[in-house]
Amino acid sequence: MTSAFRGPDAPDVEEIRKCVHCGICLPTCPTYRVLGEEMDSPRGRIYLMRAAAEGRVELSETFRRHLDLCLGCRACETACPSGVRFGSLLEATRAQLRRHGPPPKHRLLEAFAFSLFPEPARLGAALAAFRLYRASGLRALVRAIGVLRLAPTLAAMDALLDEVPRAGPLPELVPARGRVRGRAGLLTGCVQRQLYPQVNRDTARLLAIAGYEVVIPTGQGCCGALELHAGLVDAYSARARTLAASFPSDLDFVVTNAAGCGSAMKEYGNRLPELAPFAGRVRDVIEVLAGAELPLGRLDLTVTYHDACHLAHGQRVRQEPRELLRRIPGLKLVELGDSDLCCGSAGVYNLLEPGIADELLELKIARIAETGARLVAAANPGCLLQIASGCRQRGLDVTLVHPVELLARAVDAHTS
Ligand code: SF4
Ligand code: SF4
Repeated sequence: MTSAFRGPDAPDVEEIRKCVHCGICLPTCPTYRVLGEEMDSPRGRIYLMRAAAEGRVELSETFRRHLDLCLGCRACETACPSGVRFGSLLEATRAQLRRHGPPPKHRLLEAFAFSLFPEPARLGAALAAFRLYRASGLRALVRAIGVLRLAPTLAAMDALLDEVPRAGPLPELVPARGRVRGRAGLLTGCVQRQLYPQVNRDTARLLAIAGYEVVIPTGQGCCGALELHAGLVDAYSARARTLAASFPSDLDFVVTNAAGCGSAMKEYGNRLPELAPFAGRVRDVIEVLAGAELPLGRLDLTVTYHDACHLAHGQRVRQEPRELLRRIPGLKLVELGDSDLCCGSAGVYNLLEPGIADELLELKIARIAETGARLVAAANPGCLLQIASGCRQRGLDVTLVHPVELLARAVDAHTS
């Protein structure tokens, strides 16, 4: 029978066959937990891929829907004893589906999201408009009328944002302090630079204190992660090449503080072998700081930590953030139940599938409430936005922070 997949970049059949259908991954899969359907589990999705590869099913709308509902969180990869690289199978399968066009259900919304989020200048203009919408009282009026109830996606977008900071420029070079350990490039990210500019400032400052000269190229663009996860591999490849070219080639590390970006950048070499050397230098800021000495003062805080999927599952960085936070004198770290269960953000999943995303957010907020912590640390802007929005909506008095913000506060406490 002829495979339903076409071309040289079809999903790897050998990888598909590594799945032994044991089902160990099922309890870790967020969509299986919410929907309870085999075909919305990793095993079910791999079964569909295998059936398509063997020509037993077409890439029908039903097939597409089960794949679209996957968050791409890769919790199944962490759980899988056979080492199935589900993330790469998912990306390849979505690229095949793209040959038949975008998902019909989300055609317009997706076009809007992809023209906005990977374009920092456009995103900045849109956020300036949002600031006006909020400050003018129009937002309060729209909410009071309840008109957003008719458009769940618009309601989800509205709920995500609250106060939007003004993002100022960063210097192109931050000199190392003390003994020089090396040179690090900093990825400023698209959402990170617009919505969490203090995270980039703190990252640059901490790297400098750790002994790195920090290079921040002004012309850097998007890493392409959103497009990769949607199967838009040509757009992803173009962005990856442009981004890599915007950094000097003599850096020891290219540092990110956004888990989704870091995961995609570390895997550039899988599709683009010429970018393997660049990919090999990519590190999350937490990995770099874990090996550095930082002057940390006392912070009497109780904090819990949420594992961003693309840091915990995509990059396998789980202990380092916990160890770093525990190094802060006075800080009490309380473990979060289901800490590595996706919060529902997953790129633009919370906008495309607000129902499932909200059920996952509900679970996350319940676990956070159980800890009693008033601070939640998470190392990805999407998680920070999503969880902060969930806490606001449910009246939970909790503040979301990136771990580098706590480390920067502790450094300030040491010097003051
Ligand atoms: S990537 Fe996440 S949502 Fe998708 S099948 Fe794996 S565990 Fe489930
Ligand atoms: S744990 Fe791995 S081998 Fe087992 S069903 Fe899941 S993907 Fe397949």
